[in-house]
Amino acid sequence: MPNETPPVLDGPALWSAQAHLPSVLGRQLVIERGEGCYIYTREGRRLFDGTAGLWHANVGHSRPELAEAAYQQMQQLETYHIFGRYVNDRALELAERLAALSPIADAKVILNSGGSDAIDVACKLARRHWQREGRPTKTIVLSREFAYHGLHAYGTSIAGLDFNRAGYGSESLVPETARVSTYDIAAVERTVNEIGADNIAALVAEPIQGTGGVIPPAPGYLEGLQRICRENDILLVVDEVITGFGRTGHMFASERYRLKPDLLTFAKGVTSGYAPLGGVLVAPEIWQPFYRDNSETPIFRHGATYAGHATASAVALRNLDLLEQDKLLPRVSELETLLSSELTRLQSYDAVTDTRVAGLLGGVTLAEHLSAEAITDQLIERGFITRPLRGNTVQISPPFTTTDDEIKQLVEALSDVLTEQE
Ligand code: PLP
Repeated sequence: MPNETPPVLDGPALWSAQAHLPSVLGRQLVIERGEGCYIYTREGRRLFDGTAGLWHANVGHSRPELAEAAYQQMQQLETYHIFGRYVNDRALELAERLAALSPIADAKVILNSGGSDAIDVACKLARRHWQREGRPTKTIVLSREFAYHGLHAYGTSIAGLDFNRAGYGSESLVPETARVSTYDIAAVERTVNEIGADNIAALVAEPIQGTGGVIPPAPGYLEGLQRICRENDILLVVDEVITGFGRTGHMFASERYRLKPDLLTFAKGVTSGYAPLGGVLVAPEIWQPFYRDNSETPIFRHGATYAGHATASAVALRNLDLLEQDKLLPRVSELETLLSSELTRLQSYDAVTDTRVAGLLGGVTLAEHLSAEAITDQLIERGFITRPLRGNTVQISPPFTTTDDEIKQLVEALSDVLTEQE
């Protein structure tokens, strides 16, 4: 038989993200509506959103307060760019608010459109910093094995998930990157010494690795990273795209783990996903040289049309009000305790090799004979959205507005599905 070229499948014009298309075409879930912790498909199925979408819908779906904030702002001014002399009120207000919340003292705030954007900016700014300092060899950006930092050019290049970095014709899209150990701080130190601190601009780290399989830091690990960075003049970029704005029960995980980042990236929870917005908090030693009153002062050549988008900023401001008004941070701490005890119960199953919880972020790692992908598909049939992650892990990270009962029901459904496999 001659090799036959497989037929090209038909499908909607919309090219799905991160999808093996032959596996998803014909079984796509069209999400038509959301309400609180539930979403509804076009066929009218009601699904509990056990992942808050991609860890973003923190205050729940379709809240009228946020729709109203966007509506009012758009009637006044949809947006105006912030290049050069121009700024707009909402971007100014949001930046003040974020600087006040920031774990970095006296931070300046760069605003853009999402987490991948924020990572690109942070890595560019780190390299720019050392060039301006007259240390031109400091260009390498370190990241951790299993890291996920989005999929723009820099996020792709520093991915610790190899499949996201591969296929572009060289080791990475942007040259000068390297991975360090996620568990072993002595190994991190060895890598830094091998590469040489004079060649390293920054180290980027999620405080709790998300897409890599919900991996909370080993005790002392993050403190170790911070120490290595300080001792070697390496900028510490803490990627709080998932953890920022309450997911660990603190406004930022940097508070929980006592980190003082030089740069902090955020997105998702800043608007709970109601508008595309992300950004970077910047420490004084990095921003001050760009603010000196001198004709020789350099310019950071970065920006985009939607940087400081007025409507996205208005939505973020209202979302931050909701976090306070609904007392969602202390609620996350309560939910962490509950989720942790619920998942610990699953450890008695042969099918479960490990469970991990930090904040309202849970991961259940399944034994090899099971597939997290198949299990999450079966959970959809029972009305619960979870997500398969690296390492045969099932992600559980519902909105902060979830009830105790809903968490128990989700874990019960998972436990039923696992029992059926035995
Ligand atoms: N950084 C982390 C830690 C993330 O989890 C993500 C997205 O999941 C990103 C960056 C990229 O964010 P975005 O998808 O908004 O570009």
